Amino acid sequence: MSEALTRAESLIRTIPDYPEPGVMFRDITPLLADASALRTVIHALIAPFDGDFDVVAGVEARGFLLAGAAAMEAGAGLVPIRKAGKLPRPAASVDYALEYATATIEAHDDIAAGARVLLVDDVLATGGTLAAARTLVAELGGVVVGTAVLLELEALGGRGVLGDVHTVFTA
Ligand code: AMP
Repeated sequence: MSEALTRAESLIRTIPDYPEPGVMFRDITPLLADASALRTVIHALIAPFDGDFDVVAGVEARGFLLAGAAAMEAGAGLVPIRKAGKLPRPAASVDYALEYATATIEAHDDIAAGARVLLVDDVLATGGTLAAARTLVAELGGVVVGTAVLLELEALGGRGVLGDVHTVFTA
């Protein structure tokens, strides 16, 4: 790993027992606040997909922050994938399982048929969120050409669920 990436990784803060006991929350806000680290990770996030996508789809909420920067850097469009009930005119919605509940994500129909979509989120844990996001993009007619996350939590097995996923850091 380059010196710049090692430095960026050191800016991810781990907060024990947030938002509930037993969870080690990975807080990327110190990294986002550092101009050099932000630029470094955005380049690393999109590097394997150089020129291969038309749109970046980011998952609410921290995925938006990375997806917006990635879209600008790549000259691509940006589509937000939101939690249920936030969009005025959702065209597709997908339910997925959480540990003790279900969640729903939604998006507007702003992905052109056949558009090449890069999916982006901050953290990969069980993989449920990004698996649902892939289904959502497909329902809207997009083609997911890549899935990229800043930090993979290996012990939670998300890679086994998603298969092909590009991760900048692993923990
Ligand atoms: P999952 O669907 O289990 O892969 O969870 C991924 C989603 O939950 C992402 O949108 C993350 O932002 C969030 N998430 C899950 N675990 C963590 C964690 N330990 N720290 C920060 N965010 C997390």
